[in-house]
Amino acid sequence: MTAQIDAGRMEFGDNPAEAAFRAEARAWLEANAVPKGHPDDFSNGFFALDSFPPEERAKRTLEHAERCRNWQATLADGGWAGITWPLRAGGRGGTPIEAMIFAEEQAQFGVSTDVLSVAVTMVGPTIISHGTDDQHKRFLVPMLRGEHIWCQLFSEPGAGSDLAGLGTRAERDGDEFVVNGQKVWTSAADQADWGILLARTDADVPKHRGITYFLVDMRTPGIEVRPLRQMSGASHFAEVFLTDVRIPAENVLGEVNGGWGVAMTTLANERVMIGGNAMMKLPALLHLARRFGREDDPVVRQGLADAHIRADILRFFGYRVRTALGRGELPGPEASCMKLAVARHLKRTAELALAIEGPAGMLAHSEPTEGEPRWHWQFLQAPSIRIAGGSDEVQRNIIGERVLGLPSDIRVDKAVTFRELTTRRPH
Ligand SMILES: Cc1cc2nc3c(=O)[nH]c(=O)nc-3n(C[C@H](O)[C@H](O)[C@H](O)COP(=O)(O)OP(=O)(O)OC[C@H]3O[C@@H](n4cnc5c(N)ncnc54)[C@H](O)[C@@H]3O)c2cc1C
Repeated sequence: MTAQIDAGRMEFGDNPAEAAFRAEARAWLEANAVPKGHPDDFSNGFFALDSFPPEERAKRTLEHAERCRNWQATLADGGWAGITWPLRAGGRGGTPIEAMIFAEEQAQFGVSTDVLSVAVTMVGPTIISHGTDDQHKRFLVPMLRGEHIWCQLFSEPGAGSDLAGLGTRAERDGDEFVVNGQKVWTSAADQADWGILLARTDADVPKHRGITYFLVDMRTPGIEVRPLRQMSGASHFAEVFLTDVRIPAENVLGEVNGGWGVAMTTLANERVMIGGNAMMKLPALLHLARRFGREDDPVVRQGLADAHIRADILRFFGYRVRTALGRGELPGPEASCMKLAVARHLKRTAELALAIEGPAGMLAHSEPTEGEPRWHWQFLQAPSIRIAGGSDEVQRNIIGERVLGLPSDIRVDKAVTFRELTTRRPH
């Protein structure tokens, strides 16, 4: 994506190579993907399944996961999986801009890879950056082919924003580590084949320095997944209890006690993933306004124009953040700006959709209309984006410190060992 200056105007269009890539992607998608609104359209995905009764939802969730896996395999066969992954890792060796172009084009079709997004967008890049040759061979190609669903076992009841305060322990026992503790808010834990897990391996150093990053088979004895219920009625995430879970030492990613740096790679990619999910709703919003005969309503038109502007700003944030990742850098506070903007955009877009629908927006439709998302569920789910992947307040702290140069958040525990933190009592 280049900024082209033409007769005093700056254009942010595709350059010729990008336009050729877009045309190739679109032609391949037209030949291989179902269109939006087709009876086999499954692009509404994961979140669209909320409105069904539990048994029907469970059945449809499995079917949806199967379709995502099949589509991911089709992408791999066509050479479109892992666009930014290096060729040696089984990817396409393309640029972040190409990945965004493909995502923009794919969003026009009735397909999805949402249950695999933790795998391909967060775990894969982390294994590529920090994994051994053996880990690359074992995990990357199956991941690109959609063979494994992954989940992220980071947050705990006492460690979310303060993730480095996590208390799950891993103790070495010969060639294995034995893990005990509890995780929470683990998305898709009940479907996952593998998990990325942070656990404490040394309590006698400051909290960031005693954490190890593990790759854990979710079928290992001692892992118990208990789904949690959300206000939308769905159970997208779960509590996960780990009791004497044995993980082979070869499944440590990076160095023992070096897990915090590895986790930073995952979290940077998570923010980019959340940002990427936000852009694709505008054509559906326009469709909705026309369907309800509201496209001439000046207030609705203003809302649509606002949504368009927000989505374009997010697109440019996305280019910037992905370019940093493509260069092997961790994006800076611009990822926090993007994350904040995404949370607002999704909330305001869902509010606009319900305003367009009027009283009909109160109803929980069980089937989507012609490829539109179920706006009611989008509305109920939007607040969670303010929290997932680092809350709004935490992003504001980062922006305050690193962009505005404000005094840093108070961190009294930086030089104290984790053991002291958990045993000290106030006098
Ligand atoms: C939809 C969804 C999916 C998720 N999926 C996963 C997943 O798959 N895996 C996983 O590991 N986790 C997942 N999470 C958990 C998520 O990462 C945490 O919820 C998040 O990091 C916040 O942590 P917390 O819930 O413990 O809240 P806390 O950290 O307890 O925060 C509570 C409140 O205090 C504020 N706060 C905290 N610290 C500060 C500070 N220093 N300055 C100002 N305000 C502060 C927060 O902004 C928040 O408003 C998910 C969450 C959601 C909502």
